[in-house]
This record gives sequence, structure tokens and C-alpha cells, in this order.
Amino acid sequence: MANPQARSPSRQPRRPVARALLACFLVGLAACTTGAVRPDDVRAPFDQIECDGPRVLQVVAHQDDDILFMSPTLLRHLDAEHCIRTVYLTAGDAGDGLAYQAGREAGIEAAYANMVGLPNLWVEHLHTYEGHLVRVLALVDAPRVSLVFLGLPDGRTKGQGFERFGFASLEKLWRNELPTLTSVDARNIFTREGLIGVLAAIMEAFDPTLLALLDPMRFHGNEHSDHAFSARFAYLAQERLVRAPRIDIYRDYNISDEPINIAAADQQTKWSSFVLYAEHDLKLCRDAATCLANSPYFLYSQREYVIRDVLYTGSLRNDGACLTVIDHAAAAGDSVALAPCQDVPSQAWALTRAGELRGLGGRCLRLAGASPSAPYLASCAEPAVAHAAPWSRSALGQLSARGQCLAAAQEGQRVIATPCTDPPSSVQPNQWPANTWAFGEF
Ligand SMILES: [Zn+2]
Repeated sequence: MANPQARSPSRQPRRPVARALLACFLVGLAACTTGAVRPDDVRAPFDQIECDGPRVLQVVAHQDDDILFMSPTLLRHLDAEHCIRTVYLTAGDAGDGLAYQAGREAGIEAAYANMVGLPNLWVEHLHTYEGHLVRVLALVDAPRVSLVFLGLPDGRTKGQGFERFGFASLEKLWRNELPTLTSVDARNIFTREGLIGVLAAIMEAFDPTLLALLDPMRFHGNEHSDHAFSARFAYLAQERLVRAPRIDIYRDYNISDEPINIAAADQQTKWSSFVLYAEHDLKLCRDAATCLANSPYFLYSQREYVIRDVLYTGSLRNDGACLTVIDHAAAAGDSVALAPCQDVPSQAWALTRAGELRGLGGRCLRLAGASPSAPYLASCAEPAVAHAAPWSRSALGQLSARGQCLAAAQEGQRVIATPCTDPPSSVQPNQWPANTWAFGEF
């Protein structure tokens, strides 16, 4: 097992701050700390913190998603003293009360203080974003590290919600099955549009150069509903920013099925930060050496899978139909066709700046040699050679690789790649150019 005290100084005294802060707000202070620190030490509001390097905004669902799925990249940012803010959309309540939620927050605070190597002391501030009061915590000795808690109900793995909060979930809000979602402390009520607006305001204020999301597409397999839908809300929010950040997408639960891919030293550090978190999570076993190490969490601590620099993600639509992976029982070489849009993993796509067009299973869309050719989905690691297909998307919505454009075939639901031609300059309302695609909302 990893040494939980690998990053010194670790095991800071349990934070004396946050609970006392509630009292601060009751007397109306905008921001305050406990007696251990001076308010003068901390800049407020935190959005005006000066950052020399990248400004990294992580948006996740629960108070451990970042240390489990976005690390060791997270550790690199912290070591390089980048400004980093993490937004937790849900309270992580698991259908329990505030005590469980408070434990998870205490856990993530302890983990961050440990990762940075500074005392576990935080200052809390209530920010107003689009009319909603949002809790922001910054590390006293390094306010460039901050946490934002929106406190929405944990939606449970399938988005079915918990009885305690009326079976509410982010997924139901996304699908308009609920008109509003109320935070577990009843402080805020979000409509679908309101939540996107608040996230956009948080982003606008922080002005991230890099946005880290969980996987909104679920095309890699099993995934927690809250993970995917926190990412979807954040993805829509970032589309409203004047200055677009780079977007990295981190896979989550299903990485346990993949090979170990991070260095031993990073595994150890990642695990130690999670063990520290787990001490506060009342539902987790505290025995790091035995039962915790036999949990999926240990597998997560050995892995990090990320799709870097995503330009667009969502469904790919042509004339109301969606580009769909078919025959996807096969291990490789699946083909694509048009089908009615259904928000299923076989219709989720992501285009990266490097020109990868990723689909089901995270595999890459490639072209067979001849023209017109049939695009097929295969491992991104497949030797590139003649099949290399760095895709690019034109302002007109054409997706092209090696001079060939993805296009709906004249007949049937087939999708082919043909030499690119400009779409007609004027298009009738009911005529969608065969080789023009729009990224839609999943
Ligand atoms: Zn989670």
C-alpha cells in the first residue's frame, strides 16, 4: 500500500475553519476565517486572484471525482502553483443528510491541503452568480487553490435520485423531466437554463485557460449519471464564454477496466490523497491497507485516462439524423450510418485539436483507402499509415480528412467519405447539404 504521508506535510490538523465559518455568515460578513488566520492574508473576492500561469477550472459531480479521475494531472498543476478551482455540482450526499455531505467536504479540503503541502485552513466566501448564492472556499495560504460547492442533490448512479430529495437529479433536470433542482440546503433553486447560466458566470469570473470535465459522452461504458451530466451542463456553459478555454475530458469509473498507465510514484501520491479524503467519508472503510485497497478506488488511483484538447463534443447531426456506430459488438472496424437521434453512446462523438474524431469506446473514425470510402471506427492506436485521418471541421460544418468529406449517401442511411465540395451557397429550408454536420446536444 502507498504511504499516506508521502507528501509532507500531511495529516494536517482537521480543519478548524469551515464549520466556524457558518457563524461568520450569520453575522453578515462577506468573508471570514477563524482566529488562526487574518482576513488580510486572503484576497477577496477570489475571482480577482492573480495567476501567472494557466487558470485551471475542474468541474465535477462529487467531492472525490477530481482526486480519483483528474490526477496526477491535478498534482502537476498544484506542484507548478497554477491557479486551480474545482466546482462540485452535487452535495455528494448519497441521499443522506448534511452530516455526510460535510464529511465529504472536509475530506476534499484535507486532500487538497495535503496535495499542496500547506495547513488545512480555508476561508469561505459567498459569491452571487446570476442571482444564486454560491459557496467558494480558498486555501488560506494559497488562495489560488479554491473549491466551489453548488450542493445539488446526488442523483444516484442511474440518475434516478434519492427519496430524501424527491428523486431529483441533474440528469432529470437536463432532460426536462424536472422544472427545477433545489440545492440540498434549500438555498438555491436552479432551472436548467439557470444552472447553465450560473456555471457560465463562474467560468466567466475565473476566466479559465483550461477546463477539465468528466466524460459527458459515456461512450466508454459504465458511468455515474452525475458525472456525465455535470460535464454536459459545464460543456454548454463554456460555449457562452467570450474566451474559449482548452477542454480536457477525463474518463471516470470505467478506467478500472483499462491498463495501469501512471507512474508508481504518482500512484502512491494519488492514493495517499484519497486515503486522506476517505478518513472523512463516513461511507468508506477507513482501513487503507485492506478493505479500501480492495475497492475500485485503488484501481482508479493507478490510472488516468484523458482526451485532451477537445474542440467539440456531442452528437453529429445531418438533416435531423445522427451519425451512429453500427455493428458495435465487433472489437474493431465498426461502420457508421445515419439513425434517429436517441442520446445513446453509439451516437456520441468528440473532435480533438489533434484531429481525432472519437466515437464509441473512445475509438477513432478512420477512412479506408479508396474514394468514395466507407469510414470505420477502430482503435486510435492502430498504426496510422494510409489510414491516418486527422479530421478538421470547417466553418460550414464539413468534416474532412485527407481531402475527403464525411457525407450522407444518396440512398439509404449510409455514410461515406467523398471528395469535398462546397455546400451550395443558398440552401432551401428542407435541404440539408449531404456533407455538412452540426454538433448537437448529445
Ligand atoms: Zn463521483
